[in-house]
Amino acid sequence: MKTDVLVVGAGPAGLLTSIFINKHDVLIIEEHNDVGIPKHCAGFVSKYYAEEIVSITGRDVLDNHYNSLVFHIHNRKYNIYFKDPFIYRINRPLLEHRLADIVYSKNHRIIFNTKGKPTSSLNKVLTKNCEIHCSKIIVADGSNSIFRKHFFKKYKSRLIGIQYIYRSSSQDTNTIHLLFNNLTPDFFQWLAPIDRDSILIGFASRNYFFTPDSIVKHIVKETGVQIGSKVEVFGGIIPFDKPLKQPIIGDKLFFIGDSVPVIKPYTGGGLLNILLLSTALGMSIDNNKPSLYLRIYELIRSRIIYEYIAVSFFKKIGYWIPPRIVYTLYRRNLLNPSDYDNHYRLLTRSLKIVPQLIIEILLDKL
Ligand SMILES: Cc1cc2nc3c(=O)[nH]c(=O)nc-3n(C[C@H](O)[C@H](O)[C@H](O)COP(=O)(O)OP(=O)(O)OC[C@H]3O[C@@H](n4cnc5c(N)ncnc54)[C@H](O)[C@@H]3O)c2cc1C
Repeated sequence: MKTDVLVVGAGPAGLLTSIFINKHDVLIIEEHNDVGIPKHCAGFVSKYYAEEIVSITGRDVLDNHYNSLVFHIHNRKYNIYFKDPFIYRINRPLLEHRLADIVYSKNHRIIFNTKGKPTSSLNKVLTKNCEIHCSKIIVADGSNSIFRKHFFKKYKSRLIGIQYIYRSSSQDTNTIHLLFNNLTPDFFQWLAPIDRDSILIGFASRNYFFTPDSIVKHIVKETGVQIGSKVEVFGGIIPFDKPLKQPIIGDKLFFIGDSVPVIKPYTGGGLLNILLLSTALGMSIDNNKPSLYLRIYELIRSRIIYEYIAVSFFKKIGYWIPPRIVYTLYRRNLLNPSDYDNHYRLLTRSLKIVPQLIIEILLDKL
């Protein structure tokens, strides 16, 4: 089989990049029998991301929005409130279906039930039934990337995220709760209403020393939310590593998405950087100019590395410290809703008020 551009993986990275390729034939191979499965993502994004993605897919991919965020740090509550929504929830399976519709409308193809395997050639991918020959390969096979394992090292570390959807009738559908405690010391737990009838409860950690049930019980008790029956359980891997130094091999193989990874190290959010990079990668492929992709990639990578170093430090001394800093910035009117996306800027701003911060945090702890 032959194609100009072969994309491995029909997740957000593979689908979005394909949408931005206009001058070449694109073939996407996906190992599952549909897009959007298996589910693993919580779907929380910023206002900026929500607006950008809606302009591509239409509004129905948005499930809910939030203008209130409560940090629960060792049994104390810190509420951040903005008049307008600053966090949105994307319906991930629907997002992938809408993106796939656009892929088809561009006459690109998706073949399901087809797992791609790397070969020693940068122009060939192996599947169960055939070899696919192409001039460029886009590696978008997510956090279990076999291409990454083949061409580079494994991730330094990873978190296992577990999520539940419960029936729950809530009056307050616009508040997200984030909990920081010793049940998952290297990440946080979250509870967010999806709509009036259901809520999402989730958490992530490298190792689990408590049962998922006991963690859910704690989240429910701490937030005071009433839950009914369990509707769904799903989860996945959040890679924790610096992005690859070089995401392109021989101007033929391009890595994007969780295979890199380009997630925000503190929250594990990957969708924004995928959106930013997929536009650049699509243009790069169309114009045969890898430098276009590299320029944006380097910008994003340097910020992630800065955040990665800070997060590695906070993992050692206390994962709860950054939200406490964020709350202090909020109290001083130094927090902007757009900081949701820009942890780099947040970190730089918080460094300027370190002495006051330490005093405030210490006084709060006494
Ligand atoms: C628990 C959890 C919560 C998260 N919450 C958020 C959040 O709130 N906000 C946010 O921004 N991000 C979140 N993320 C991260 C986000 O889900 C990822 O960054 C994003 O899904 C990565 O997209 P991707 O296309 O690179 O990979 P994926 O979404 O994993 O897609 C990869 C696709 O490739 C397919 N595939 C894999 N290997 C092959 C192969 N060899 N051949 C063919 N097909 C293959 C897979 O079936 C899949 O369809 C979360 C992740 C987890 C695990």
